[in-house]
Amino acid sequence: MVNKLEKKLKNISLNTKIDYKVWSEVKMLLRKEIGETMFRNWILPLELEDVKDETIIFSASSDLVIDRVERFYSERIIYLWKSFNKNLIRIKLYHKFQKDNFHKENYSDTSKKAILEEENFNDNIIFESRLDNKLSFENFIIGPSNELACAAAKRVANFKKISFNPLFLYGGVGLGKTHLLNSIALEIGHNYPNKKVIYMSAEKFMYVFVKSLQSNNAISFKESFRSVDVLLIDDIQFISSKEKTREEFFHTFNELIEKGCQIVLSADKSPNEIKDFDDRLRSRLGWGLVTDIHPTNYKLRLKILKSKISKISAKIPDNVLEFIAHKVKSNVRELEGALNRIIAHSTLVNSKVTIEKTYSILKDILKANEKQLSINDIQKIVANHFSVKISEMLSSRRSRSLVIPRQIAMYLCKELTHFSYPEIGRNFGGRDHTTVIYASNKIENDIKNDSNISEEINIIKAQF
Ligand code: ADP
Ligand code: MG
Repeated sequence: MVNKLEKKLKNISLNTKIDYKVWSEVKMLLRKEIGETMFRNWILPLELEDVKDETIIFSASSDLVIDRVERFYSERIIYLWKSFNKNLIRIKLYHKFQKDNFHKENYSDTSKKAILEEENFNDNIIFESRLDNKLSFENFIIGPSNELACAAAKRVANFKKISFNPLFLYGGVGLGKTHLLNSIALEIGHNYPNKKVIYMSAEKFMYVFVKSLQSNNAISFKESFRSVDVLLIDDIQFISSKEKTREEFFHTFNELIEKGCQIVLSADKSPNEIKDFDDRLRSRLGWGLVTDIHPTNYKLRLKILKSKISKISAKIPDNVLEFIAHKVKSNVRELEGALNRIIAHSTLVNSKVTIEKTYSILKDILKANEKQLSINDIQKIVANHFSVKISEMLSSRRSRSLVIPRQIAMYLCKELTHFSYPEIGRNFGGRDHTTVIYASNKIENDIKNDSNISEEINIIKAQF
């Protein structure tokens, strides 16, 4: 008996050691592939908790990290890990400070019909291979702000006679673009199992393309798109950073349109606002339908909350839902986050949720929704992020370690507040408005051309 137990314990520690070793190998490979900044930001914060049967379990203390890894890196981690342990098929990501039942699961379900499987391609080419069954038309709540986008998406998914090609959906973050793209892919997979659908983020498109160039496989890259009936690319604004990728995207796009393939793109801005789109692409987009998703109104937010609550057993009083719908206006992602917190609280504490409790549980979210950022807030956060003093950042010194934070802070002031260029200049040690314009344009360009800067800025923004 004792022997058996000892043996078991020995095995456990042995396995754990192997797993950590594998994880450090996988990390090394990832570091090479994605570069130091991305690695530091998204992979390093992951803690390996366990490897059980077919699942690798990680924890992290930031939602942003979990979201990023889920969307961009989990497939790759599974892929790399598989070369050490073939059985692994999924990753689970836990938020360190949340209870187990709120973890996210990430299945590398390569059997999904609507997805082009990675085995069809060269080893170096990886396609997004995950559809979320929850992000369906059925679960998408319609209101005045999204009804046109949703109707267009449904029509595309049903191959109705008069369709829109390409369909371009745009709108602010967290308003349901990815949800709609995912719904289209699900619906087609369900109704037209023989149609080939590729659904991927623009980041993935670029990654796959660059990989195919590195391995001299540009032809196989092109061919993999040739047999496709529907191409869905999410967050197309990210495609614009590199000339060569843009060219390739444009060629692929034209070829596919000409042979009648349905294309759907999403972005956070309209085609006219995406500066690096060239005119050819813009005019091509004009042949189809360009439609936007607006921020939600109170009624839609309440409807979304009620629909989410109807699918689980937790009981949240109507007045609490109304309170959340009134207060959390920024976007649907945050609305869901707020609701999840309240649900977590009500199931853990097992007591009735009141408005007062809701207020204290959601304090930070409510504050952020009410808060109007000031120039000083932005200066503080940027200075802190770069470990420089505000007084130095505002001074006339021109060392690189100060110029970059200064320019980023100016750019963020312009982007996130309603202050004019001269007002911002005055708050940066009395600088001229042309300096602010220069800084804003420069950083805007850097974001497009340098993924390290754009990641850096995302991290700063996440601190507001
Ligand atoms: P985006 O891609 O525009 O940033 P997402 O599609 O990721 O936004 O949406 C963020 C979250 O909000 C997702 O969980 C999504 O399911 C949810 N969501 C957004 N709009 C709706 C809606 N109209 N009905 C139900 N859920 C929604
Ligand atoms: Mg999205």
